[in-house]
Amino acid sequence: MAVDVAALVTRAREGDHRSVARLISLVENASPQLREVMAALTPHTGQAQFIGLTGSPGVGKSTTTGALLGDRVRMQDHATDRDVYIRSMGTRGHLGGLSWAAPQALRVLDAAGCEVVLVETVGVGQAEVEIASLADSTVVMLAPGMGDGIQAAKAGILEVADLYVVNKADREGADATIRDLRAMLTLGDKKAKEDWTPPIIKTIAAKGEGIDEVAAALDKHYAWLTSTGALEGRRRKRIADEIENLVVTNLREQVGDLRGGELLPDLAEQVMAGTTDPYAAADKIIATLERN
Ligand code: GDP
Repeated sequence: MAVDVAALVTRAREGDHRSVARLISLVENASPQLREVMAALTPHTGQAQFIGLTGSPGVGKSTTTGALLGDRVRMQDHATDRDVYIRSMGTRGHLGGLSWAAPQALRVLDAAGCEVVLVETVGVGQAEVEIASLADSTVVMLAPGMGDGIQAAKAGILEVADLYVVNKADREGADATIRDLRAMLTLGDKKAKEDWTPPIIKTIAAKGEGIDEVAAALDKHYAWLTSTGALEGRRRKRIADEIENLVVTNLREQVGDLRGGELLPDLAEQVMAGTTDPYAAADKIIATLERN
């Protein structure tokens, strides 16, 4: 049944969690109304601060997220639980770890007027890089004794982090983890084009220690992004990536449809017979796609 998208967006913008949830579901389920949803949301976007938090399972991401949200909520005057919205998203087999619907779901939250959107992902390989492409600020979390240093180098997180958090500082080895990280950062190719040096912050998330420092560093990074114009640059790139993905997905579907049609087998036949070549055949197909 068709949903009244405009009404849903209006209620979501009034702070109604159920409407926010329904909009995200429409997005996740690739509803036929997805385009309508995106068109209704987009004029209201561009205000939210997106923070990505990634790291290996067990480093303390959820604990830190809870503590950070508590911190933010405490800072507001009339804060209630209504001011915090939490949602889990599956990855549905999408390679890399982030849900394919993540950018659209973030757009729902942005349009709903969320000031800060914190995306927590299990940092396994590609997800770390992907979260950085969605977030304004990316926090990479490590913990002592998990071989994270080596993992970090492998996953290429040196390039994506705006902020490092070494959690479980109450455990032995936290300082060694920081030393390893510093050493790697010195060795690594520092972001020469950007004059932001990612700070390393020690936390004991389970006790709420260091969380204020993380919040302050995030604010500082956001202020830096805003004042240098880097924020606009990142967002423009993010949206360009999203559009490019939509184009590629659309083209791939059209090309997939070709297998069931007549043109592709015909052209294959002609190449086999030597009456045309594969490049000319591909050009013919591209010409038909452009007409759509
Ligand atoms: P996530 O998988 O990265 O989200 O990690 P969790 O937040 O679920 O934390 C994993 C485990 O580490 C839980 O048992 C937490 O209670 C514990 N933990 C989180 N922060 C700390 C900390 O600062 N010190 C210690 N010792 N344990 C912590």
